[in-house]
Amino acid sequence: MQTIGLIGGMTWESTELYYRIINREVQKRLGGLHSARILLHSIDFDDMAALQRAAKWEEAAALLSAAGRHLVQGGARFLALCCNTMHCVSDVIERDAGAPLMHIADPLGSAVRDTELSTIGLLGTRYTMEKPEVITARLADKYGLRVLVPEGEEALEVHRIIYEELGRGAFRDVSRAFYRRAMAHLIARGAQGIVLGCTELPLIIKPEDSPVPLFDTAELHARAIAARALEDA
Ligand code: GLU
Repeated sequence: MQTIGLIGGMTWESTELYYRIINREVQKRLGGLHSARILLHSIDFDDMAALQRAAKWEEAAALLSAAGRHLVQGGARFLALCCNTMHCVSDVIERDAGAPLMHIADPLGSAVRDTELSTIGLLGTRYTMEKPEVITARLADKYGLRVLVPEGEEALEVHRIIYEELGRGAFRDVSRAFYRRAMAHLIARGAQGIVLGCTELPLIIKPEDSPVPLFDTAELHARAIAARALEDA
């Protein structure tokens, strides 16, 4: 089994999900008392959120690359970023840390392609929704998907809830109802499935909240990470 290097803490609420899913998958595959070999570098998210707000993407990349290098020095064979947003600098991290990084858009793109849907709605931070280099360009170029995102005030509220509520462990019915409406608007515009493109979103949005298939990036990514760790097992 390969040792996994997780760069987490973005936020710790969703890193906990990754830890649980990866171990669950490894135990399912290997049975007995098996669990995953994981090194975790968990950052202080307050630092990262400040860099994001100031658009200091190079500094953010340097911080995450340093985390990646520590993990590789400690024996990690490959890396994964436990969030969508910071994939805007995943190439830099992969290059500077010196180990392959499993991009979150790849297990997502494969899962959507398997269902033969072509148009998907995406909820995420405003960076993920606005910056093509996070995941939407990869989903379009590599997987041929059309991606719709919320607009205007609605997009701002999708983003606000992530930082002001979900990242602080607050899961409110009123926010779940808001996300249900945002998903309905995307479906009315043609979305055949909804991507939970922020790793905290599955903590508040469940499959029963959506009339169309949900694609949970945290779950898909974590399962793919576990499968990769077992590739040589
Ligand atoms: N976990 C989130 C994501 O998947 C948001 C937190 C962050 O900005 O890293 O994008």
